[in-house]
Amino acid sequence: MKVYKFGGASLQTAGSIRNVVSILQKYPADVVVVSAMGKMTNAFEELVESYFHHRPDLQGKFDRIKDYHMDIARELFGDNSQGILDLEKLFSAISERLQKVPFVNYDKTYDQVVPYGEMLSSTILYHYLKQEGFHCQWLDATEIVHTDDNFREAHLEVIKTQENLKPTLHTDGLKLTQGFIGGCKEGYMTTLGREGSDYTAAVIAVFSGAEDVTIWKDVPGLLNADPRHFEKTQILSHISYHEAVELAFYGAKVIHPKTIKPLQNYHIPMYVRSFLEPDKPGSLIDSATEWDDNITSYIVKHNQVLLTLKTMDFSFMAEDHLHHLYGLFNKLGIKLNLMQNSAITLSVCFDKEEEKLESLLRAVEKTHHFKYNEGVDLVTLRHYNPESIQRVILNRKVLIDQRNRMTAQLVME
Ligand code: ASP
Ligand code: MG
Repeated sequence: MKVYKFGGASLQTAGSIRNVVSILQKYPADVVVVSAMGKMTNAFEELVESYFHHRPDLQGKFDRIKDYHMDIARELFGDNSQGILDLEKLFSAISERLQKVPFVNYDKTYDQVVPYGEMLSSTILYHYLKQEGFHCQWLDATEIVHTDDNFREAHLEVIKTQENLKPTLHTDGLKLTQGFIGGCKEGYMTTLGREGSDYTAAVIAVFSGAEDVTIWKDVPGLLNADPRHFEKTQILSHISYHEAVELAFYGAKVIHPKTIKPLQNYHIPMYVRSFLEPDKPGSLIDSATEWDDNITSYIVKHNQVLLTLKTMDFSFMAEDHLHHLYGLFNKLGIKLNLMQNSAITLSVCFDKEEEKLESLLRAVEKTHHFKYNEGVDLVTLRHYNPESIQRVILNRKVLIDQRNRMTAQLVME
């Protein structure tokens, strides 16, 4: 049993869908998990904004999404086809939803609209696969992937999902379903967090006892740095689950951080391969560790806030005080990318989000002095050495330099 995941970049045009099908002809899979096409999840997010706030540009945004999918579908299977009829049905369902009063809860409203991106992409791919002679079954992830109702960051309900999946696995042919989306007990759709379809693929692989999972990307595999910012990047051709989860945690974009745990727990290897060069081997992630420290990896996070809090009354930044501050970060949904404390200060680095920063400052201003820099970069190096550190710093001003055995983190202006 082989599980594949194709992301938005591999499903962007009629041509790219043909390419996905040619990969499946050459390298057959049993289960295929797809994301929304191209940048459609962003387009749906904008649609939700207009819907929720009753903006007049709602219809225009809807039309753009519809035209995009319909043009691709017509190019692939012509006007008078079951594929076009199925898409029309989905667009009627979206329209109906948009005519209802939105829920007061933004996240719940979001989850009743954004999953259509995956519904549409999987419907188009399904009909094209059938046209190309595949024996293929379309599975509705909102009925299979069972979650709680923590909208936009829903948690999987393992036993129910496993039960739902079981009967589908014994049927013949290729099974095609949607990543990133699920459904909760009350019958509402849910989503698992942006870029969550890798996670869906991993979970399905675990529940179906798959031999491996392949994530098809627009890069040749896991790279040691982002080729847009670094010259002479190298492929990490074989790394451990531990290394992969660290890289994802520090912000390497290639795999969703939640993906690795289920695969590691059940010893399922994961491949990252290029849909542009499908014959190349890509990267392999498994339990082997002997290749891990050969190459330095560089991960850059832009647009960070570096905030330093200092107690006003000179009380120590000790465990009780840290406990309180970390509780606050957690409550406000601020995810820390770096932390460092001294006798009476705590410095933390996190992604800049205006509203969260303001709420945080309001919550601490009576008890702490604070200083912050906005728009700084956080660079993480795994398996660093003096040359790699120098390569990153060049002539830049370093605000924090923190190192442990494996990892160095630099906050720079
Ligand atoms: N389509 C969703 C997103 O863009 C899920 C995914 O791509 O994994 O976030
Ligand atoms: Mg996507």
